[in-house]
Amino acid sequence: MEVFGNYIDGKIDEDGEETTLLSPVDGSEFGKLYLANEEKTKEAIDSSEAAFRKWSKTTLKERQDILSRLLNIVEGKAERYAWLESANTGRTLRQSTFMDVTIAIEHIRYFATTKEFVESREIEHPEYPGTKGIIQHRPMGVVAGVAPWNVPLLMAVWKIMPALLTGNTVVLKPSHYTPATAFELAKDLSSAGLPPGVLNVVTGEGSVVGTTLSKSEKIRLLSFTGSTATGKRVTRDAGGTLKKILTELGGKSPNIVLEDADLDKAAKGVLFGIFLHSGQLCESGSRLLVQDTVKDKLLSRIKTYMERMKPGNPLDMETDIGAITTKDQRGKIEALYNKGLQEGAKLYFSQSLGSSVPEKGFYFPPTVLSEVSNSMEIAQEEIFGPVLTVTEFHSEDEAADISNNSKYGLAAGIWSQNSRRATVLANLIDSGTVWINDYHMISAAAPRGGFKDSGIGRELGLDGIMEYTQTRHIFYGSDENALGEIARGLVVANQD
Ligand code: NAD
Repeated sequence: MEVFGNYIDGKIDEDGEETTLLSPVDGSEFGKLYLANEEKTKEAIDSSEAAFRKWSKTTLKERQDILSRLLNIVEGKAERYAWLESANTGRTLRQSTFMDVTIAIEHIRYFATTKEFVESREIEHPEYPGTKGIIQHRPMGVVAGVAPWNVPLLMAVWKIMPALLTGNTVVLKPSHYTPATAFELAKDLSSAGLPPGVLNVVTGEGSVVGTTLSKSEKIRLLSFTGSTATGKRVTRDAGGTLKKILTELGGKSPNIVLEDADLDKAAKGVLFGIFLHSGQLCESGSRLLVQDTVKDKLLSRIKTYMERMKPGNPLDMETDIGAITTKDQRGKIEALYNKGLQEGAKLYFSQSLGSSVPEKGFYFPPTVLSEVSNSMEIAQEEIFGPVLTVTEFHSEDEAADISNNSKYGLAAGIWSQNSRRATVLANLIDSGTVWINDYHMISAAAPRGGFKDSGIGRELGLDGIMEYTQTRHIFYGSDENALGEIARGLVVANQD
């Protein structure tokens, strides 16, 4: 059985409480894990702190050379990464191959080659003629990344790459449910030439490892991705220290279909929006808002396409709909779905899984609930599973009101053939990302993050990179600086 444990100071560390990882595909034993405790986490932090002194003095080119070598390694092992990701999370092998691993490779390429980030720039000070300034974007120090279980490889890439690029050292805590690809990436970074200690990986319970990271005075920035409830907890725990906190949290994203949409495209886009990775994506379009005049037509297309989707063993390349990553999560989906029915939502369509999926795995059928009012719990709470709610609206203003009547503000989709109309609506939506005639297209060059309870701060793009830096200003004085001369004279009289 493969071991996915801790990676400390450049070495695999198998010291810790041993547990078995169960694969959501069929409930079989997938790997062994050694859970880190508080002491082990502190060891990882100390290792990253010691490594920071040298790493922060490397040049941007030296750092990007290491990321480029990593890129070659990951490209060469794409199939292994895809298999590990699917066996560990239950997402379909087709999705891991053509989305997660493909996008992870493109995102590593972005960080390895971007010229957008410059470490320093020169300025003039308008008040002080002749003087010159240099603005530097310096690393913060030891950065902690805390990741959820749903997209482990991309999460590891997003937490590690911008931090290393900007000269920080990192302690990464993947979810103890899905540590496989983060662990693999740490080993591959080491092969790419990353010095020991620059990246440490500790797997373990959030209440132990996560809390130790939140409370550590040695960590200067904590980048957390997970649920809103845990994000608030982490922010409270870290409150006694002065670290910077970035939070990428939950969502209940609307996917809005206007009456002038290409309904065939929109139906496919809505299904892609909710059923990719069985709805277990933070930005999943779990609320379909459809204009009343096209509701019936759209729903009938949605049903037709759903009847063609193939649930099955995620490791089979033919499968469209895979597993739910953990047994607990399946229970949560079921409970909220039942709550929706009690609240008055109607079961419009649910696929039958039957014998198409392995008996002992964790599965939930793709489901559509209609006649959902936005005040119902099923429309307000994140389900993080393959359940789409349908709510109708009569005007764009109403669509915006329904969209924004949510504590979340992570993402939204708009389907319309009129780009101007869609843009006017996009401008009314309180969320960090709005896709027009598309969904789930996450770009390394574009910052992503949430409004409201979906989080604070941005990941990816130049905005995301800059989050990992602190600014230093160096001022070069000049004899031409008349105001400086006068200012100094206020304190020290000129003797000449
Ligand atoms: P979670 O909040 O339960 O856990 C996230 C991480 O925090 C895990 O590593 C967990 O071990 C750790 N953790 C738990 N308790 C902790 C504590 N007290 N202190 C510090 N760390 C602690 O979330 P999850 O169930 O793993 O993931 C699903 C959630 O993540 C969903 O809400 C989803 O929307 C969100 N998510 C958000 C984004 C985004 O970019 N906005 C992306 C992916 C997932």
